[in-house]
Amino acid sequence: MIVGVHPLAGFDKLLHYSVPESLRDQVAVGSLVRVPVMAALRLGIVGQIGAPTDFPASRLKPVVQVLHPFPVLPPDLLKLALWMAAYYAAPLDAVIEGMIPAAVRRGMGLKRECFLSVSRELPAAELAQLAVRAPQQARLYSFLRQQIAPQKKALVLGRLGMTAAVASGLVRRGVLLEEARTLERVAYADEWGHEEVLAARPITLNPEQEAAFAKLEAGMATGKFGVSLLHGVTGSGKTEVYLRAMDAALRAGGSVIYLVPEVALTPQTVSRLRARLQAIAPGQRCVVWHSHLGDGERLDGWLALATGRARVVVGARSAIFAPVRDLRLVIVDEEHEPAYKQEETPRYHARDVAVMRSKLAGARCVLGSATPSLESFVNVEAGKYELLQLPRRVDGQKMPHIVVVDMRIEAASQRGFSALSRPLVEAMRGRCERGEQTILFINRRGYASSMMCRKCGRVEECEHCSITMTYHRFDETLRCHLCGAQRAAPSRCAGCGDPDVRWRGMGTQRVEEAARRVLPRARIVRIDTDTMGKKNRFREILSEFRLGKIDVLVGTQMIGKGLDFPNVTLVGMIDADISMHMPDFRSNERTFQLLVQVAGRAGRGDTAGEVVVQTFTPQAGAIQYSRHADFAGFAAEELGVRRSYRYPPYRHLIHHLFRGPNPEKLKFFSEQWAKKVKEAMGDRVEVRGPVPSPIEKINDQYRWQLWYFTGSVTRAIGDLARLRAEFSWPRDVTQILDVDPVNLV
Ligand code: ADP
Ligand code: ZN
Repeated sequence: MIVGVHPLAGFDKLLHYSVPESLRDQVAVGSLVRVPVMAALRLGIVGQIGAPTDFPASRLKPVVQVLHPFPVLPPDLLKLALWMAAYYAAPLDAVIEGMIPAAVRRGMGLKRECFLSVSRELPAAELAQLAVRAPQQARLYSFLRQQIAPQKKALVLGRLGMTAAVASGLVRRGVLLEEARTLERVAYADEWGHEEVLAARPITLNPEQEAAFAKLEAGMATGKFGVSLLHGVTGSGKTEVYLRAMDAALRAGGSVIYLVPEVALTPQTVSRLRARLQAIAPGQRCVVWHSHLGDGERLDGWLALATGRARVVVGARSAIFAPVRDLRLVIVDEEHEPAYKQEETPRYHARDVAVMRSKLAGARCVLGSATPSLESFVNVEAGKYELLQLPRRVDGQKMPHIVVVDMRIEAASQRGFSALSRPLVEAMRGRCERGEQTILFINRRGYASSMMCRKCGRVEECEHCSITMTYHRFDETLRCHLCGAQRAAPSRCAGCGDPDVRWRGMGTQRVEEAARRVLPRARIVRIDTDTMGKKNRFREILSEFRLGKIDVLVGTQMIGKGLDFPNVTLVGMIDADISMHMPDFRSNERTFQLLVQVAGRAGRGDTAGEVVVQTFTPQAGAIQYSRHADFAGFAAEELGVRRSYRYPPYRHLIHHLFRGPNPEKLKFFSEQWAKKVKEAMGDRVEVRGPVPSPIEKINDQYRWQLWYFTGSVTRAIGDLARLRAEFSWPRDVTQILDVDPVNLV
């Protein structure tokens, strides 16, 4: 038998090996094997069996070891890996390594432990003799004789204060039996699993939910691939529809992957899901998958899925690679979230990978959001995806009332600038009097975005990165939010020595300070990565907030995701312009999504919510459409703009970044390269650039960039790979290709 193996060894090539007789029935497509590569032993994944090669089998090297008794990559995952490598221009071995937890690659299986039991009863006389000759052995024997089941060796010896030698003496004489047994750690009791999971009361779907579910069920019943976009306003009960579909998939014997953005994977969501799952499908275990799992937990969860003992996984991005069998349903909640994009190699988008995996597995894929991405929405328009809609909130509540405050007028009528406008302050006062809660959002941490001299105009910048330093008032520092550099804030301008240095723009700290000034008696807490130093502080603050011990919560958008606080009736968006004026063609879409999602946080309880949006550009479409959560209106306008520039989603975008210590060299080589690409590609790909990146320098590395616009990514990537191999790059220039990039700044 000959097999083709993809080695995990730093190069992309299928290598051929023979399989010794003894390993034959263990090898299948997707098996993890150890094979000789050059002089070393490497891991590899079997890609083909009976692979055709000109080599006679006798001259091939043999597979040395098969690491697990089942294929580590099911066929659909192996195909997915090949697709990802081609589409995202990523090395195949890096893609495969990202799919298999490190512990599995190290060959770790289920934990095995030694158990002891009595295998031969000792007659009373013999026991009496033993008690004299070897009193410890006699004690161990007597202890084990009283037990009904075999006991863990380590535990028993520890408790009796004995060494392993005591046991082995008895084992040698056949009195005790020692056996290794497979132990399953309770993978499902992850760090949150200690909470009691109460089965929630069953919920009757409303007619819209019922209709959406019926379509999903019908889609799954065909046994064919298909994608449904579930567009439901915040609070419309999307989760309930997912859960019902999950139940149907499980009943049919299939498995389910349920993706949520990492930030939304809170204990609250997880326990709610578990409770609902218990009500719907009692006994089904749910593996939780996220980036903070320990090796052991990750291994156990992975093994439970790979062996079919668990058929549901809920997790962030990489849960899309769960080795489940018979995948029937893939759910991508909040599908518009940028967090689904991985910002390191392989730079994949989990939503797009989810669609592709569903296709390869013949599964149904549901993409859900209150603000779908335009990428997904055009697929509905093109007839590729089915559209399911939940246009109303479940509790019959009105959508929150959105007030837009024109900060130009505020600034003109107030003496000096204040972070909080008068309508917002008034609304906050009212909430405090009534014992209701407020959240203030500002998408920048720190006190001020920059420090500027009023006299000479000098702005403090990071020495390593070409961005301004952010002023943090609580410890009087200037900090770089890119590289983390920090220094003491100067009391005089470093350029001209003038003492009148001022800050511009604002961040969470300045908003917190302003809130304290207007509401001196309120309990105000700020929550951002600067206050998150202590572990668990985030959770503590949220639970205090939930218990009503905090009146006003000030934070970055990290507090806006997946949280549900019934007593919050006011949300203030302090600076809606921050996200709108990014040099990114998606900045309008982001702003719209942010406003609608944040508004959805207000008034989920019995009282209607109010949202106050502060902006210098109140007429902008992103703001106006968000007032009525008018997705269709926003999409129509924004897609018009995208179409006229032929931006995504009408074409694909590929970002090519060059990085190096020498700016002249970088410029020269990126220009040479661009010339070559333009000549070679002609009309197939539109090349823009090269230009310096918006942030020209990070960590002393200069950055230049190119954009490719194309209708076909796989073709463009193939062409680029060929051209790159022909071009000679200097050693100190690194390149990054980012396909369908999400973060353009
Ligand atoms: P979404 O994910 O669309 O924002 P959720 O699924 O979180 O909305 O639902 C909001 C709330 O409404 C949840 O507390 C949920 O339990 C409840 N809910 C959902 N569907 C129903 C229903 N048909 N009847 C009563 N309550 C429901
Ligand atoms: Zn820096």
